[in-house]
Amino acid sequence: DSNRAAVDVLVVGGGIGGLSAAYALSRQGLRVRVLEQAPEFGEVGAGLQIAPNCTRILHEYGLLEEVKSLGVLPSSMVMRDAVDGRELTRLDLHDLERRYGFPYVVIHRSDLHAVFLRACRERGVDLRTEQRVTGYASTADRASVTLADGRVEEAELVIAADGLHSVARQWLAGDDLVNSAYVAYRGAIPLADVDREVDLDEVSVHVGPRCHFVRYGLRGGEMLNQVAVFASPKALAGEEDWGTPDELDQAFTDTCEDVRAGIPLMWRDRWWRMFDRNPITNWVRGRVVLLGDAAHPPLQYLAQGAVMAIEDGWVLAQHVARRREAATSTVDWDAAVAAYEAVRTEHCRRVVLTARSWGELWHLDGTARRQRNVILRSRAVDDYSFVDWLHGPTALAPEDLPPMFDPIPLESVDVGQDQPALTE
Ligand code: FAD
Repeated sequence: DSNRAAVDVLVVGGGIGGLSAAYALSRQGLRVRVLEQAPEFGEVGAGLQIAPNCTRILHEYGLLEEVKSLGVLPSSMVMRDAVDGRELTRLDLHDLERRYGFPYVVIHRSDLHAVFLRACRERGVDLRTEQRVTGYASTADRASVTLADGRVEEAELVIAADGLHSVARQWLAGDDLVNSAYVAYRGAIPLADVDREVDLDEVSVHVGPRCHFVRYGLRGGEMLNQVAVFASPKALAGEEDWGTPDELDQAFTDTCEDVRAGIPLMWRDRWWRMFDRNPITNWVRGRVVLLGDAAHPPLQYLAQGAVMAIEDGWVLAQHVARRREAATSTVDWDAAVAAYEAVRTEHCRRVVLTARSWGELWHLDGTARRQRNVILRSRAVDDYSFVDWLHGPTALAPEDLPPMFDPIPLESVDVGQDQPALTE
């Protein structure tokens, strides 16, 4: 069956992680097939932030100009207190670009997904839909997947990029999701439908007690993207039916006008309950490797989930290229996969755990909230120590990982001098 020609690599899952990995490996001359369960390739139509550690890779792929033309390059990222609306700290994103060499871009998810889909097509990646993988197996030098219709496909390497509810993760680690009891509402709408002024030159984040609110522009500023996140009282009470729109309305009643005005613009027919997983150090079983959310689903507070998935594919392809014999095209897969696992498990562990503590910091109440505000307001605008470990070049080996940022302990902050805003 010429339709079923042999491939070197099978990728399970055609999300941003799977497609970008397929593209990265096809650029090394490998024959790659993607198996996606959905009837069509696609992404939800909301926004995505992509930081310089990812735009550096898009540049190398020759895709950055297209991504920039489809997205927005905001001038700043501003964090404010969601209750009193006061500014806490900001990042100058033009300066950030000078520092790391690559821009901070916000883009519609479906646009980024479409960029990778087209890039894969042009490279000749074999892209298949309606292929639901139900099982995995591996021998010493090959791996196979079983599909829902009973067919079996095999290759030298299987990359499982099957997302948060990964079947491969279950087979490989068997661990459970961790429920944060937080839920995210999204909404991306034409700016023409917004009846008030919003500054789309900034990525805006309002942080408040048990909630936060994110806002930025998409598609050259033609669209407004918003994300509203809050702790669900029903989830905390152990109820099944949690995260519903009545909870959304309730969660933001005590926030400032700027935030409250955004809530009616959220999509109300679907929401995302937020889970992550505890980091694991083993992403490989024989010739099956995990990638993207299957390997390291984060809470999205650092906006690095899709970014990490894209980095994963780049790192894996780099290690494959280094272990590929030019004359015979044979790859030392085991060595390549081990090198990938060694660096990526550690980097992604840091991101997943930092995202959790970042969320705790954002969602503080009472004195701790004031202590946080004092610390954030005292940060020098050009102090990048808390993002240097994230936004620099993606490491290829554990010894190249930059040192981690050491946060200032909140308890050490005296809020005596910090005047609450008049609106409180
Ligand atoms: P997925 O996108 O989940 O793709 C998995 C694919 O595998 C899907 O297409 C699915 O249909 C397919 N699949 C699943 N099971 C099977 C199977 N058995 N057989 C075949 N196919 C299968 N990240 C950022 O970098 N920046 C942000 O600003 C950002 N904001 C976020 C905001 C919110 C509210 C949320 C919830 C997440 C955010 N993220 C962000 C995280 C990001 O969305 C994810 O980390 C990323 O999309 C993961 O990509 P993936 O390809 O690994 O998984």
